[in-house]
Amino acid sequence: MNRRNSVNRRDFFKGAAALGAAATASAAQRRFDHSADVVIVGAGAAGLPAAISARDHGASVLVIDENHDIGGHAMLSGGRIPLGGGHSLQKKYGIADSADQVYLDHTNHRNPEFRYADRDLVRAWANENVATFEFLLENGVVFEDAAPTVVNGGSVPRLFVTKRFSDDYKETINGRPGSGLVRHLEAKARAKGVTFLLRHKLTGLLRENPKSGRVLGIAAQLEGKDVNIQAKKGVILATGGHTSNVEFRRMFDPRLTEEYQVTGEPWSKQNADGEILAMAIGASLWATANQPNEGGRAVTKTLHIGCRWGYQNLKWEPESPIFAQAGASGLTVRSFEDVILVNQVGRRFWNELDDSYRFLAACLGTNGNLGNHGKANGGGPIWAIFDSEAAKREGWDPRPPNVDPNGWFFGGETIGELAAKIKNPYQLAPIPAHGLEETVARYNAFVDAGKDTDFGRPSPKFKIQAAPFYAAWSTPILHDTLTGLKINGKCQVIDVHGRVIPGLFCAGETAGGFGLHGLPRATVFGRIAGREAASEKV
Ligand SMILES: Cc1cc2nc3c(=O)[nH]c(=O)nc-3n(C[C@H](O)[C@H](O)[C@H](O)COP(=O)(O)OP(=O)(O)OC[C@H]3O[C@@H](n4cnc5c(N)ncnc54)[C@H](O)[C@@H]3O)c2cc1C
Repeated sequence: MNRRNSVNRRDFFKGAAALGAAATASAAQRRFDHSADVVIVGAGAAGLPAAISARDHGASVLVIDENHDIGGHAMLSGGRIPLGGGHSLQKKYGIADSADQVYLDHTNHRNPEFRYADRDLVRAWANENVATFEFLLENGVVFEDAAPTVVNGGSVPRLFVTKRFSDDYKETINGRPGSGLVRHLEAKARAKGVTFLLRHKLTGLLRENPKSGRVLGIAAQLEGKDVNIQAKKGVILATGGHTSNVEFRRMFDPRLTEEYQVTGEPWSKQNADGEILAMAIGASLWATANQPNEGGRAVTKTLHIGCRWGYQNLKWEPESPIFAQAGASGLTVRSFEDVILVNQVGRRFWNELDDSYRFLAACLGTNGNLGNHGKANGGGPIWAIFDSEAAKREGWDPRPPNVDPNGWFFGGETIGELAAKIKNPYQLAPIPAHGLEETVARYNAFVDAGKDTDFGRPSPKFKIQAAPFYAAWSTPILHDTLTGLKINGKCQVIDVHGRVIPGLFCAGETAGGFGLHGLPRATVFGRIAGREAASEKV
């Protein structure tokens, strides 16, 4: 959880009021530390294409990012970019596709991921698939030379995967293919004259007047110092969404309390800064039904357990320059047959083998009531309990750097000793030893009987009986931001009255309207936003 950046409602509106006051000053009165035609906030999957595209359209471009390096979540991503419409790499593999087919596949009402989309936005996105894929190629992105596969319930193979940038972990951060997307775009952007200001955090949007004027630039902070940046044509918000902000994410799903960690951290955060600051000057959110949508990837089952961040497609590598912050790689679960999952009071609550949304709902629902020690929302920590025989079957070495003993992994010679050791900021009361002992004894009886009469786990196979015993953090982890600011097909931000906020653009996970997962959405809208901001007549 990111306590520092989690904003309560009072602070939220206080910030908005302060911003309104700041925004009344005229451009002439304000001293700017930097100036560019187009100012982009966030150097990730949306911000980098936006920067190049704005530069290609003749604008001077400045990009800020609060992190010490570029890339955002995209740096850690799998580099899986399903774009289609009939681009050159599809043609190379003899695949026929069209913008119309892309549109139809992404508006299929049978697919809950697309059911709540704004069709106008999907159309704009579909129309720009080919041009964006060619843009990535032209700007140095290299894809694996392998025939594409079908994803997202599509009718045509579209999934191509980027090659990772290099074998140097300083450059790739965690050796992931996404580095091949962002590092090549960064290099091209720098070569074309884009300026990057790192460690600069967006703190305000500067506007002519609070109600209707143009957005003239941004306020930022560099190591506690205020920096004002002028945007002569437009500001593009590409801050990556809101998942790291507990108060904000709970607007869409009140269950998502602080115990749920966010993949992509501790590398980069999605603090809803873009959304909150734009809302403070009247911006609307859009297609919010996408966020709690059971078809998307907002909430996911952990695959790497015993570490804080165990998202299925991201295993922190000890070679990563930020491994000390990540803490551990986790034990990768080959089969959930080898563990039972218990809630904050040490009780099983669902069939551990279930990979459907029903499993996640069981984790997030009222789960092991702690009475006065507890809280009404959020399901609390989930722990995987297993024994030394399970560790052998899985090939696990339950020691650092594979596990994180600082609150995310525990061992004990007896089940009772194990229960007493479990201490974690989100475990609000100790797990009762007798409760965990009863749970394990009952599960072992199900193994003898060959039947789980509590939760219908098919033929439970292995008893938990050989010391030492272990408890590994296995609480669901959050991923996608699937809703955000209302934009039109030109990525202009729209206010609650349906009017364009002049000079303000948005792309990537900060933009709402289309809940498509990840890079294809971010790269296409990023490129559009850059072009449109550069083309502003002021
Ligand atoms: C582990 C992992 C694997 C993934 N794999 C895939 C995949 O294979 N395919 C796919 O399609 N998608 C994938 N995704 C999702 C994809 O990476 C994201 O959807 C995409 O990066 C979002 O782009 P963005 O530009 O909106 O945000 P980001 O890429 O996260 O960039 C946002 C940037 O904004 C900066 N920022 C935030 N707030 C501020 C502020 N106040 N001031 C200044 N800067 C700020 C951040 O530091 C960050 O650099 C993956 C994500 C993760 C975490």
